[in-house]
Amino acid sequence: MSLDAREQKDPVFEIPPQAPQSLPAPLHALQAPQRVEPERRDPLREFVMELPACLIDLNTRVSQPIAATSATTHGTRTLAEYAALKEREWRGTLRSDEAEYVRYGTPIMRQTEGALARLFGGETALVFRSGMAAIEKTLEAVLDEGGHIIVFAQGYRQTNALVERWARRGLIELSSVPIDGFKEIGRHIKANTKAVFFETPSNPFLRVIDVRSVKNQIEAAGSNALLIVDDTFAPPPNQNSFECGADIVVPSLTKYLSGNNQVLGGAAIGAQRVLQPIFQLRSQCGNISHDVDCAQVLEGLATLDDRVRRANLNGEHVANMLARHPRVRELFYPGHTSHPDYDIAIAQMSGFGGVVSFRIDARDLFDVAAFTDAFVEAAPPGTFIAPSFGGDLPLISAVTVVSHFQQSEAERSTRGIPLDLIRLSCGTVPPQVLTDALQAGFEAMELL
Ligand code: PLP
Repeated sequence: MSLDAREQKDPVFEIPPQAPQSLPAPLHALQAPQRVEPERRDPLREFVMELPACLIDLNTRVSQPIAATSATTHGTRTLAEYAALKEREWRGTLRSDEAEYVRYGTPIMRQTEGALARLFGGETALVFRSGMAAIEKTLEAVLDEGGHIIVFAQGYRQTNALVERWARRGLIELSSVPIDGFKEIGRHIKANTKAVFFETPSNPFLRVIDVRSVKNQIEAAGSNALLIVDDTFAPPPNQNSFECGADIVVPSLTKYLSGNNQVLGGAAIGAQRVLQPIFQLRSQCGNISHDVDCAQVLEGLATLDDRVRRANLNGEHVANMLARHPRVRELFYPGHTSHPDYDIAIAQMSGFGGVVSFRIDARDLFDVAAFTDAFVEAAPPGTFIAPSFGGDLPLISAVTVVSHFQQSEAERSTRGIPLDLIRLSCGTVPPQVLTDALQAGFEAMELL
């Protein structure tokens, strides 16, 4: 039978006489004109939708970092091809899958840098092996020919140790200013001031510095000093440091931005012109972020908005519980009215993060240990006593032991670090889990 004949005779190809005149309901619904929602701009949603494809393509996600870890990421077989690659590199027009040599950057590093620049609202970004590497290379580039820098006396101790060492060696001039000094920073600015550097909120007391006010004072003093902000504790969407006037931001990627307590990384973000000398130093020294870490940071960025908002809710929930607890001596949470910088925090930040510091009513280190250990025992698996923060799972730190163990009691007291200070990173677990675990900690102290 010919095909034509079969088509004419086979009843399968004929519309059955009892066929319904209208479409079945589900199909009809799908064909009905769609309700058109008015277009609403959501920058973070747009950001997520444009993240590099390595996030979605499972095969690429696995193979891309491995391919990129070869030292020469883009081998060429003729000198003319190589010259063309160099020219594209020089013009800044390398294709997204191209790179010359790993120390100068890899495709996935550049993708991560593009995503970070976009997220923070900076022109360009450089990723580093750690947050401290980003800070070190940024300050080294800015203070290349020496000069004066102003830092925050209660800032992250590793950053302060770094600039104190350079100052001791006579390489730079250093002013270490307590937080109240920042309200009148103009008084500390000199003709050779190259940079004002601080973190906000700060570690571990979550002090908040008014970025806009510092910027205004630098400008009023007629200074060209760069304003460099470590906003590790206030990632997007909680703070936009560039809108507040920062020239460079240096977030650690180890914390909220990767969000899984597994990655070490840092970034410097800012204008191309300002970052160029930092790029040159990084290219010389190779303090670059690993590709596999970059892939994890990109994954983290895709869920950042939800994670940070959830951490904010947990931070507020825990702070409210601790503020009322009879065994809490002092609470440090910028979103709580008891915090000395509450007014600045409310004006500058749109969320206050998932880190809460507080002093417990402990007689000695044994009380502190009873508290932290019972907390970990009662919290979800994966909760540890550890120095980091900003991941999905909670981390708790008895600050004296975890970050300041090398210091004598006298040194700690000069830095204002009491024995009973606890820093809790709430993570994104259900809030009740956190308050139950904290209660278990307080009860364990009662038993001693
Ligand atoms: N900045 C702040 C405020 C920090 O708390 C830390 C680390 O805890 C860093 C920078 C350094 O980050 P990293 O550990 O990625 O070097």
